[in-house]
Amino acid sequence: MRKKTWIAMLLLPALLLAVCAPLAAAEDTLHVIQVKDLPEDFILGMDLSSLLAEERSGVRYFDFDGREKDLLQIMADNGITHIRVRVWNDPYDEQGRGFGGGNCDIGTALEIGKRASQFGLKLIVDFHYSDFWADPGKYKAPRAWEGLDASAKAQALYAYTRESLETLRDADVDVGMVQIGNEINNGLAGETDWNAILPMLAAGARAVREVCPEALVAVHFTEPHNRGLYSYYADLLRDYGLDYDVFGSSYYPFWHGTLENLSEVLTEINRNYGKQVMVLETSWPYTGEDTDFSGNSVNEDSWGTRDYPFTVQGQADAVRDVIDTVAHIPGGIGICYWEGAWITVGGASWEENSAKWEEFGSGWASSFAAVYDPDDAGRWYGGSSWDNQAFFDASGHPLASLRLFSLLRSGSGDQSRRETAPAPEEQPAEDLPNLLENGSFESGELSPWILIDRCRGGELFVEDKAVDSLEGSWHMHFWNPNRDSVDFDLEQTVEDLPEGSYVYSVSIMGGDCGETEIFAYVKVNGELRFTEPMRVTVWNSWDTAVIPQIALSAGETLTVGVSVKCQGAGNGAWGKIDCAALRAED
Ligand code: CA
Repeated sequence: MRKKTWIAMLLLPALLLAVCAPLAAAEDTLHVIQVKDLPEDFILGMDLSSLLAEERSGVRYFDFDGREKDLLQIMADNGITHIRVRVWNDPYDEQGRGFGGGNCDIGTALEIGKRASQFGLKLIVDFHYSDFWADPGKYKAPRAWEGLDASAKAQALYAYTRESLETLRDADVDVGMVQIGNEINNGLAGETDWNAILPMLAAGARAVREVCPEALVAVHFTEPHNRGLYSYYADLLRDYGLDYDVFGSSYYPFWHGTLENLSEVLTEINRNYGKQVMVLETSWPYTGEDTDFSGNSVNEDSWGTRDYPFTVQGQADAVRDVIDTVAHIPGGIGICYWEGAWITVGGASWEENSAKWEEFGSGWASSFAAVYDPDDAGRWYGGSSWDNQAFFDASGHPLASLRLFSLLRSGSGDQSRRETAPAPEEQPAEDLPNLLENGSFESGELSPWILIDRCRGGELFVEDKAVDSLEGSWHMHFWNPNRDSVDFDLEQTVEDLPEGSYVYSVSIMGGDCGETEIFAYVKVNGELRFTEPMRVTVWNSWDTAVIPQIALSAGETLTVGVSVKCQGAGNGAWGKIDCAALRAED
């Protein structure tokens, strides 16, 4: 993990150049390397779950001639064949206020499905079987199913699936595929035991067969790069005798390993289990910039693999290669891009946008989600983390990359030309031992760190949460909903170091901090000697301060630390500190 941060830092200047490369060049001349032998019925899907909330927030979409159109028509005109929609059982609080993320329930699926059908598009229905987001880290049962035992839950899931699909069928929505659960790696509807999950999957599949016999039944997993994982799940499904057609995978190129690996694991699924395979979610950023004042999941600073630049052409190349890969896997039936139109609601500030996210559910979560998910959505609610991965700019005009889907079969432009990713930088030499104790907070204790806490209220503690850690599962956490209330130093003193030269480094990420004064520092014999400013931007964007050439004489005492002072914005300043290290220099 640590190494990757170094590499990301080294790559930054090159990436900025790539991002600043003229977008205009791509506008007229999208280069598409032909995908050979692409089957006629290959699924080119687009998840548009947030569409209605976006429209209610005032977002409009335009075609390549600048005419405002129904987004579904724009999709159909540009080669998309299927529209995917997530479905939550009841994403509203008791006062009827939506949780956000599109407030997606069967009603939104129905409305989007009816419009999709007008333009000859099929629907992929993605049941989460939860009242809000379900993924490997979240799989809470719908509130209406709380307290049910596993078999009663399977029965409820059957009835709900059946009733929901009947609603779509009765409105002549063309349902092409139904997912029983979303990224169910670790659980489904509050159950984690596969003895409980498998009967629920079977109940859902049975409802699909009964109501929509033409539709494919899909299961959906993620982390294809985790070797052996997919065979493990496929064995469970086979041994149980689950009736399903499609083994679906998420594949985000920055997080999920190589295309070669994806191809290998899905080929195995087809060969060994006879199932069709599909990438149910994929994406790539066209820019590193944020446009809605709510941080993005992927940006220039974030962790991940970058085989393509964050440009319009890079986005087209990335998606083209996923399509090319799946099209040549035995049993590979298609791909679906995730939320390709979840753009900014257009306000000039966080506050202006937040009002729309709250009212219309067009952000990833609203504050009202607190009744269901108090620890995450209810606290960190906000806007779109995906606006830089849309196929539309901030004003709703399509990017040239949207032409990809209609150009795949013919190819376009020079068939060898390709924007190249930044050249990989050399990796730093093997690290020398870290002279700090508990530099990554993995003991779960603060000691031997000293906290000089001038904060008023809020939270400040060592936290166990792997997804918020740069290394291991622990880090130093801070959050304060009040303005001008985050103010602390965190430091550690090391004695008896031999005379020599040292380098100190520490990493931070965070957000909603407003104006900040954050810096890493080094004291010698208690006297401040070096500082290095640090910045926080958005979740998962780690900033690493490095203070080299710390000359130390024998008998001197060295103190290293990080000082944090934040004004606060949005839901309150928050951040994570991790991976402090002090090493001898060569
Ligand atoms: Ca954003």
